[in-house]
Amino acid sequence: MHEKTLAELSAGLQAGDFSSVELTRHYLDRIGRLDPQLNSFITVTADQALVQAEAADARIAAGEAGSLTGIPLAHKDIFCTEGIRTSCGSKMLENFVSPYDATVVANLADAGMVMLGKTNMDEFAMGSSNETSYYGPVRNPWNTECVPGGSSGGSAAAVAARLAPVATGTDTGGSIRQPAALTGITGLKPTYGRCSRYGMIAFASSLDQAGPMARTAEDAALLLGGMAGFDGRDSTSAERAVDDYVSGLDAPLQGLRVGLVREFMENDLDGAIAGSAEAVIAELRRQGAEIVEISLPNVHLSVSAYYVVAPAECSSNLSRFDGVRYGHRCENPHDLEDLYKRSRSEGFGVEVKRRIMIGTYALSAGFYDAYYIKAQKVRQLIAADFRAAFEQVDVIASPTAPGTAFRIGQKTDDPVSMYLQDIYTIAVNLAGLPGMSIPAPQVDGMPVGFQLIGNLFDEARLLNVAHRIQSETDWHRQTPEGV
Ligand code: GLN
Repeated sequence: MHEKTLAELSAGLQAGDFSSVELTRHYLDRIGRLDPQLNSFITVTADQALVQAEAADARIAAGEAGSLTGIPLAHKDIFCTEGIRTSCGSKMLENFVSPYDATVVANLADAGMVMLGKTNMDEFAMGSSNETSYYGPVRNPWNTECVPGGSSGGSAAAVAARLAPVATGTDTGGSIRQPAALTGITGLKPTYGRCSRYGMIAFASSLDQAGPMARTAEDAALLLGGMAGFDGRDSTSAERAVDDYVSGLDAPLQGLRVGLVREFMENDLDGAIAGSAEAVIAELRRQGAEIVEISLPNVHLSVSAYYVVAPAECSSNLSRFDGVRYGHRCENPHDLEDLYKRSRSEGFGVEVKRRIMIGTYALSAGFYDAYYIKAQKVRQLIAADFRAAFEQVDVIASPTAPGTAFRIGQKTDDPVSMYLQDIYTIAVNLAGLPGMSIPAPQVDGMPVGFQLIGNLFDEARLLNVAHRIQSETDWHRQTPEGV
């Protein structure tokens, strides 16, 4: 059953080939057997899953099911889930049980989906390898010595290892696309504001966005359809109807204008990764797309701008974790200052502390204009570069990440090299655009991602292009050994 896609599972449920309870038990059994090697889940919610599955079976029997009803999924542990621990990968929230569901979680539950559990992640979504998690690193199912990417590394590994048909992730600078690339799955970061951020623990509020992680573009389309929508409880939510992401999946690509970013293709791009991207570009050409070289003259500033804006916002967002309002509280504080200091020192890990310090510095009175305002101006230039590019092309293509999965521990002492993992993904968040990663031909037996970037709210087109590629190739069908 776990070889089937969400679309196939949905057809099987409707036809009565198996029940949601059987399907759910099958995945819970796989998690029990295979996850001890991978560590992709922080919490498994077996009892609740079976209750949800029974309710889904009743809905199917009553003829009231939609395409997501009865399908199991895993949620990144950044989404609040009522009555269930939501740790955000941190010791700070080790004992936090949310009193409410995030909107994305509630939307998918209303559609009849079954939550298997909460997936491991970099602490507060800060990282590109899943090694900053307080709950230990996640291992890549393609090679358990390697990282799965991050910060949505648990969701990526779980989907790649067939421990869940689909999962949710969040992406602030690449955290859906980069782990999707490193584990050989399909991941989509929607336009900023497309999915509600209500109940999604904030890292950098102007960049964070939830999205689907799946094995195929078709499955990502189905899941996004259930996640997306306006939410009055999120003031940055887009007041705009959700597109039909499925009906246009098969539209031919004849005449599609695809832009290749000159700065990405020139800039130290690894030869094997370039070769892999070229194979996907050749397939686009074969289907009638026109390939156009474009320039994003300010894109080389995106990592620097991001590492001012994101830490600045995080230093503000994470101030609520003080041992009083939220989070871990130290033992026997002798005064208020001691309480704050020790609770925060004990509760946060090294990377989170590094970001809070950088962000606090960038926002301090003497440096605000020099760093924060400057970074915001650069951000506007990058968004303008994309606007100009989308006058010439319909989608933009590039590699997703600069290499394949690296070994656990290889980059932990070198934060800048870790930050450069997102060199191709970060500009998309700064500009608020949708971006997607799909599997490209592998390099040395390890997955490689190909990125498609769309104009604002053009998710349906990205999914269409990805689906057309996946209809004619089998790069997305590769399965890690032993799963
Ligand atoms: N790797 C980037 C960071 O550590 C992006 C993380 C993310 O998208 N959540 O900030």
